[in-house]
This record gives sequence, structure tokens and C-alpha cells, in this order.
Amino acid sequence: MPEPVLAVGGLVPFTTIDFPGRLAAVVFCQGCPWRCTYCHNPHLLPPGGGERPWAEVLAWLESRRGLLDGVVFSGGEPLLQRGLPAALAEVRALGFATALHTAGIYPQRLAAVLPLLDWVGFDVKAPFAEYARIVGSDGGGAARAALETLLASGVDHEIRLTVAPELDAAAVERLRGELAELGIIRLSLQTYRPPVAAMAS
Ligand code: SF4
Repeated sequence: MPEPVLAVGGLVPFTTIDFPGRLAAVVFCQGCPWRCTYCHNPHLLPPGGGERPWAEVLAWLESRRGLLDGVVFSGGEPLLQRGLPAALAEVRALGFATALHTAGIYPQRLAAVLPLLDWVGFDVKAPFAEYARIVGSDGGGAARAALETLLASGVDHEIRLTVAPELDAAAVERLRGELAELGIIRLSLQTYRPPVAAMAS
């Protein structure tokens, strides 16, 4: 397998809350094509080389064997990066369980990595026809296709929604209905936190 090229925009060495049941590290992947109104990681949005080489992260993970049992790929949107499948395979070869945080922007790429994942945290944004209100572009079709792919895979997951000010109670109920049509009963609601720039203004 070729050396993976993964643009790493940050690393959290230890978390108990980002991968259920695991003591994990979080690798933040650089780049995301969406511009959610509440994004808390604007520094991760532009694509680029990232802050540190993947090989360095992998060597550090090797030193964490026996101390951590999972690695989360978050972002940004990790599926943006072509090197993600190879990076996941390398992490699993070290004995770690793997998790992905995604908004489902690239359904086909999600399908390709699901066999390499133990858990997925999937962020839905709005009723599928209303994604542009939150992400700045059409994206609901891709997100729905990605959700269907995730459900068909049987990979353990959590579906989450940040209740942004743009979403009133009726919009949340519309989304619940659309998810129910897919067989999704449980939706985790996350509290909206204003982005840092909005808080400063
Ligand atoms: S999908 Fe995630 S990383 Fe991308 S803009 Fe939205 S909140 Fe930020």
C-alpha cells in the first residue's frame, strides 16, 4: 500500500468523549468544502498541507499502543482526503479501533472506508432540501445518500444535529420525519454554540 498523504490540521492526544467506549486520540483533517454558519474549526476549512506530517502522527500513535485503544478522524471533512483509506488501514494495523466524524459530503468515499471503521459520528445539518441554509451550498442529496450507505453497512454510529438558529422546531421535526423514513429513530441534538467571530462581535 502506498504511503498515505493526509493533511493533518491538528491532534488531540486524548479524549473520552469523541469515540464511545474508547480512550482515543483525535486526528483533525485539513479541508472542508462546506461553510456551516456555526463552524468552530474555520482554520481547518481551507485545503492545504496541514500542520504536521502524517508519518509523524503515525509514529506518535505507535508510541501510544497500549495506552489508547482508538483513533478518531475528524475535521474539517476527513473524506475530502484521498489518503484517508490508507491512513485508516495503517492505524488499524497498529491495533487501534477507528472512528470517523463526517457530514456525509462524499457518499462514494464513505462507502469505500466503511469496512475500515468501527464507529461513525454523522452530522446532519437540516432537512435535506434545506441544507444551503446551513452549509452554504446544496448538500442534502449527498448527505442522504451517505446516510443510506452508512445504514446499509451495519457500522455502529450516532446521528447528530446541531440546532442552529436557522432551524426552528418545525424544521427539526421535518428532519426527524425524513430520518424516520430511512429507519433512523434516534437523533442526538447538540446545543448551538456561536462561532468565535460571532461571539466577539
Ligand atoms: S461540515 Fe463541519 S468542518 Fe465543514 S464547515 Fe460544516 S461544521 Fe465546519
